[in-house]
Amino acid sequence: MTKKILFLLVFIISSLIINAQNTVIKAGHFFDARNGKMLDNQMIIVQDGIIKEVGTNLEFNKSDSIIDLSNSWVLPGLMDCHVHITANFPYRNLQMEQMYSNESTSLRAIRGTVVAKQFLDNGFTTIKEIGNDANYATADIIKAIKNGWIQGPNIIYAGKIIAPYGGQSRGVNPEHEHIWNFEYIDADTPDEIKKAIRKNIYNGATVIKLVTGVNGIYDAEDIRAAVDEAKKYNIKVTVHAHGGLAATNVITGGAAAIEHGFALNNEQLQSMKDKGIFLVGTDFSYDNWYAYGMDSETATALNNNLVDRLKRAYKIGTSMAFGTDIVVDLPELNRIESSLKVLETWKAAEIPASYILQTMTINAAELLGIDNERGILESSYFADIIAVKKNPLDDIESIKTVHFVMKEGVIIRNDKK
Ligand SMILES: [Zn+2]
Repeated sequence: MTKKILFLLVFIISSLIINAQNTVIKAGHFFDARNGKMLDNQMIIVQDGIIKEVGTNLEFNKSDSIIDLSNSWVLPGLMDCHVHITANFPYRNLQMEQMYSNESTSLRAIRGTVVAKQFLDNGFTTIKEIGNDANYATADIIKAIKNGWIQGPNIIYAGKIIAPYGGQSRGVNPEHEHIWNFEYIDADTPDEIKKAIRKNIYNGATVIKLVTGVNGIYDAEDIRAAVDEAKKYNIKVTVHAHGGLAATNVITGGAAAIEHGFALNNEQLQSMKDKGIFLVGTDFSYDNWYAYGMDSETATALNNNLVDRLKRAYKIGTSMAFGTDIVVDLPELNRIESSLKVLETWKAAEIPASYILQTMTINAAELLGIDNERGILESSYFADIIAVKKNPLDDIESIKTVHFVMKEGVIIRNDKK
């Protein structure tokens, strides 16, 4: 009896293995993110959401389904390490407190599902949602994606932003602290920071975001306390800082990344390199600055500053991960089109396209702590695979021509043309 059942089990399992239908992608051109090079005529075999094999002339079963991308450039799914999917401000009218007070968490979540899908459809299979999502709106979006109710990218999630008293608000009267506490947790001592981190993790956070230098400035000890607390749960700490003492304390405290870093000097960029601290530069183009409400002259000056900072960071060799931070859409453009305007800044800084692609794939995965599962197309990695119509190494803006998206082996988009 037992023997018979065992035989039956072996039969069922082996027939499942034999008949398992894999997906075979024929890639005319293939981005090797590890080496920053384009290879020709590669095949990718995908099984159960995972890349099984990559190479030329691989053997496959007749029953496998074939995806012919022989005229396309196939890349690992892209990553944006600084997004706010639930936030949106009117063109040239960035009033944070107005959004906090006028929009509920549920409205924010609905917007977030739309923007999340836009990211996925345009080739971003992983995003780092970095806070400003009302009362943990993104935690529910992540659940909805996991439940299969909606499609969206893999989301690394910060929860509420932790900052010294005041969040990123200025001039709100003391009776209305609750306005910024909708989106921020006030934390002014290492103990308060630890408590805030535990609260965020309880609510679904998988990365911790601090802001320093907007109101109060964190000491290096504050940053270190955050890093040590988060480390207990295998989570990284990333910090909004522009430059000066605020940034120096972040570097000394050993955070994983500085977000923005608009005013970092060469010495700071060098110590970030030495300590392996990433720069997520959120490199706004002129149009982005203008959309945020700057006049032309200011927008030009701010963009020139970013071009210079990008150039210096690249020359020094600071690790960089791509991040956009766009919360104001340009007229006629959706969130992704508005976000990819930042590529104009990267181009103006003459950063090689292969390196920019690495900041969106393998480097981003390293910062996000997912480099053993995503960011490159090799066996045992998640099948997060996209294709574009033109060679992005000739012009990085070719990543705007995404026509195929696969996330964890599921085809999200495959335009027939
Ligand atoms: Zn931001």
